[in-house]
Amino acid sequence: MGRRSGHPQGDGPGGMSGQGGDRPLTRLAGAGRRPEWTGGVVNPPVWRASTILFDDCADLDAKSSRNRDGELYYGRRGTPTQWALADALTELEPGAAGTMLYPSGVAAVAGALLSVLKPGDELLLVDSCYQPTRAFAQNILAPMGVATRFYDPLVGAGIAELFTDKTRAVFMESPGSLTFEVQDVPAICAAARARGIVTLIDNTWATPLLLPAIALGVDLSIIACTKYIVGHSDVMLGSVTATAPYYKRLRMVAQSLGQHVGPDDAWLALRGLRTLGVRLRQHQEGGLAVAQWLATRPEVARVLHPALPDCPGHDLWRRDFGGASGLFSFVLRDADAAARARLIDGLALFGIGFSWGGYESLALPVDPAPLRSAVRWEAGGPAVRLHIGLEDPADLIADLDAGLRRL
Ligand SMILES: *Cc1c(COP(=O)(O)O)cnc(C)c1O
Repeated sequence: MGRRSGHPQGDGPGGMSGQGGDRPLTRLAGAGRRPEWTGGVVNPPVWRASTILFDDCADLDAKSSRNRDGELYYGRRGTPTQWALADALTELEPGAAGTMLYPSGVAAVAGALLSVLKPGDELLLVDSCYQPTRAFAQNILAPMGVATRFYDPLVGAGIAELFTDKTRAVFMESPGSLTFEVQDVPAICAAARARGIVTLIDNTWATPLLLPAIALGVDLSIIACTKYIVGHSDVMLGSVTATAPYYKRLRMVAQSLGQHVGPDDAWLALRGLRTLGVRLRQHQEGGLAVAQWLATRPEVARVLHPALPDCPGHDLWRRDFGGASGLFSFVLRDADAAARARLIDGLALFGIGFSWGGYESLALPVDPAPLRSAVRWEAGGPAVRLHIGLEDPADLIADLDAGLRRL
C-alpha cells in the first residue's frame, strides 16, 4: 500500500543522516505526509470511498493494468488516508519496501503467514507466541498442509539445528506474550537467511521505535496497531511491513483476501502514531517504576519484565532494544486464583480487559503454562499481566500496594 514517501525528510537512507534530520522521533513527525495527499493541511483528510471515478475508458484500462501503490482505483485498495499510514509505518522500518494494513492484528499475522507458506512447508513458531497466532497455525495452517513446530524462545543460533528441508519460515515474537522472554533476533535471522528461510516477527510490544526489526534482519514485521500505534483503545488495526523480496506477494495475498481498513480507523491510527515516541517514553518510565517496586515485595515471586536483569534474554534486550514499553507480568508467591482475583478486582486504577497499549492501565489474570508445547513453563504461582498506562506511577503503586494487602 505504501512505498517510502517522497517527502524531503523521509528520503535519506535510514540512520542518522539526512539534511533535515532522520532520527526515529523526527521521522515519526514527518512520516507519510506527502503534499499530494495532505494538500495544504498538516494531516491527510479522511477520504471515504468505494467507487472511484475514472477520467475515461483509457484511464480505467491504464490503472487496471498498473495496479500501483498510491493510485486511486477502488475503495478496497485504499485512499490517501490509508496510504499515509502505510507509508509512515514503512518509513519507521529502515530497509522496508512497503506496508499492508489489516482490520486487526490477528488479520495481519494471518496475512503475513499466508503470503510466505504453501502446502508441504513447515513453520517454526516460537513457543511464547500470542495465543491466537498459535490457534491460526493449528486451525488454518495445519489443515492446509503446513506443519508447525514450536521452538524454545531462548534457542538463539541453535535454531539452525531445527531446520529441515521443509522449513520455510520462522515466526518470532520478542518479548514473548505473557512471559516476556527476549529472543536473539539477529542470530535467528542470520541462521535462517543462510538457509533461504524467511523470518517474521510480531513486533507489537516494541514497535519499530524500540526494535527496528527489518534493520536487524527480519523479512516481515507485524504490528497489532490496535495497541501502541493507535494508543487510545478505540480502534482495531494491524500492519505488516516487508522487505522488497516479500512485499509484492504480501500485497497480492492481502488484495486477494479483500483486506481493507476503514479510512476513519486509519486516520485515528495515524493520529496516534504521531505521539508514539512520547507515550512510549512514559509507558517505559511508569512500567519500570511499578516493576521495580513489585520486585521488592515479599508477596511477589517473580517479575517478568525484559528490563529487569533476571528476565530471560535481558542481555539481548539491552543489546537490541531502544527501551521498554509498558506491558509485563508478575507471579504471586503463596497465593491461589481466588487471592489473585481479590487483588485484581479491588484495583481502582486498573481496568480488567484484553488488549493494551492505550493510555490507561490494565490488569489481567494470565495462565501461560497450558499454552506451551516445546518447553515447560513453570509459573510457581498465579500470574498477573499489567499494562502501565500514562497515569502517575506513584498512584498506580499505591493501588497495587492496597491490592497486595488484600491477598
Ligand atoms: C493484541 C495482539 C495481537 C492481535 O491484535 P488484534 O488487533 O487484537 O487482533 C497480535 N499480537 C500481539 C503480540 C498482541 O498483543
